Amino acid sequence: MENNNNLPLNEQESLKELTPEQKSNRQLAERLFPEDLPSIESLLTRYPDRELPKGAMVTRIAPSPTGFMHIGGMYMALISCRLAHQTNGVYYLRIEDTDQKREVEGARKVVTDSLHKFGLDPDEGEGINGVEKGAYGPYRQSERKDIYKSFIKHLVEIGRAYPCFCSEEELEATHKKQEELNVKSGYYGVWAKYRNADPNIVEEMLNQGKPYIIRFKSLGSNENKIVYNDLLKGQIELPENDLDLVILKSDGLPTYHFAHVIDDHLMGTTHVLRGDEWLSSIPLHRELFKAFEFKCPEYAHIAPINKIDESGGKRKLSKRKDPEANISFFGENGYPEVAVVEYLMNLANSNFEDWRKANPDKLYTEFQLALKKLPDSAGPLFDRVKLNDIAKEKIAGMKAEDLYAKVLDWSSKYDPDFKEILEKDPEYWIKVFSIDRGGNKSRKDITMWSEVKEISAFFNKDRFIEPDWSSFTSKLNTDEIKSIISQYDLVFSLDDSSDKWMEKIKQIAVNFGFAPDTKTYKKNKESFRGHVGEVAQIIRFAITGRTQTPDLYQIMQVLGEEECRKRLTLI
Ligand code: GLU
Repeated sequence: MENNNNLPLNEQESLKELTPEQKSNRQLAERLFPEDLPSIESLLTRYPDRELPKGAMVTRIAPSPTGFMHIGGMYMALISCRLAHQTNGVYYLRIEDTDQKREVEGARKVVTDSLHKFGLDPDEGEGINGVEKGAYGPYRQSERKDIYKSFIKHLVEIGRAYPCFCSEEELEATHKKQEELNVKSGYYGVWAKYRNADPNIVEEMLNQGKPYIIRFKSLGSNENKIVYNDLLKGQIELPENDLDLVILKSDGLPTYHFAHVIDDHLMGTTHVLRGDEWLSSIPLHRELFKAFEFKCPEYAHIAPINKIDESGGKRKLSKRKDPEANISFFGENGYPEVAVVEYLMNLANSNFEDWRKANPDKLYTEFQLALKKLPDSAGPLFDRVKLNDIAKEKIAGMKAEDLYAKVLDWSSKYDPDFKEILEKDPEYWIKVFSIDRGGNKSRKDITMWSEVKEISAFFNKDRFIEPDWSSFTSKLNTDEIKSIISQYDLVFSLDDSSDKWMEKIKQIAVNFGFAPDTKTYKKNKESFRGHVGEVAQIIRFAITGRTQTPDLYQIMQVLGEEECRKRLTLI
């Protein structure tokens, strides 16, 4: 082990002043990382403290590119984005692709496209064009290998990391033994085989080319407690870390734990918002930050979105079982993105709903999201009915032209047939979508773009099918119905004002023994067969084949005289 030939002269000089242990650690670090790595000092200079106003929050989302964007990820992105922007801070995207087994082709694009669609493009990191922006990159962990290695090398040098040559079988055997002895399982203390391995043995193993990983040498004890203050969950007591966890895998990439500490430090994250499954890793992360004498960021561990399942039980939204766990579900169904975003705002801060009622015209970004008001450990509940209500409200507030554009855009991806129909006559369809739109009693019958084709099917003149009168319930017989329709055909004119139009229907109602309005009918029920509504229903059914539609007067105006007459003579 005294062979220092690998070391440059000045390093050999400095070795002289070291203890044998320090010397051996230095040599081991050189042996494990012979490559030319950036120095820690140069890295700390390359990533200077951010110059931001006081109180500015630097947040990030750090998805693993699995090809699946979970709605929980979008929820986290929204919260991170709002908090950073509310404080004039920075919200960035870091791609955590250190688990290359899980990496899927095109998965980064799924992340960047989804964020873009929901208006949550990051300030730094990869954008939809695949290009990174920001001075704290690279923002993809697989491109930061050398950075991690520099810091791991440093840990080896100071005796806080070491190679471990244990095979899967050996670790399994240790685990079994721990179970038999009923002691805490894991790689720690006496169970950590290579923690204090003889340097000669280590050297020998390395010479033999034995595969290894690198572990952190913990100085903690499971008997001690750390007190930690979570921004969301409050003060929490956790046992100190005592596990010598893996920090560098055999593929040369770090584990999540290690990369988190290095990246969030160098990239200047002030607030780590992440899933509460990471809460138990706090003692390890704290120990790692301390080993480098880095300041720990603040943490908020966020409870996952839940749902009530078929059996009435509450559980986490599952990627496997619940289609709505995948953010693409909302796009495929054609929910307006803003409705999904506002729904997530509701989940994040329940007072958002009242704010929205009081400020119907403001952008959601004007709402001050409060971290403290996020749901506690129980986690919010995904409620499709609530989402649908918000979507209906949002769609009701849209202009017909915008609605046309949105439906067309959705159809071009998911319903080419409807796209063709819409493109044939944009002006006509904009008129269709203008019915009952604007003002405060806008129609609220559309929840998502995928419903529009069916809801407005009777406007498609080429495909209108003769209404099925056998499904129509009325106290009038077929002859009377026919007679009402033909009388109406004789008198109606599309030049009539809506009042005049109504007058004509009332007149027919009276001819057939119906009251001209509900008030008259209610006063003297015995004298009438019913009221004008029942006669109007007959005309509605003849014109649309439906018993429930938006305003019939407007429908007829849009359909035009020729089409209305055609339909009135179908019976
Ligand atoms: N890549 C980690 C995950 O997907 C990120 C956790 C974090 O935000 O720190 O769970």
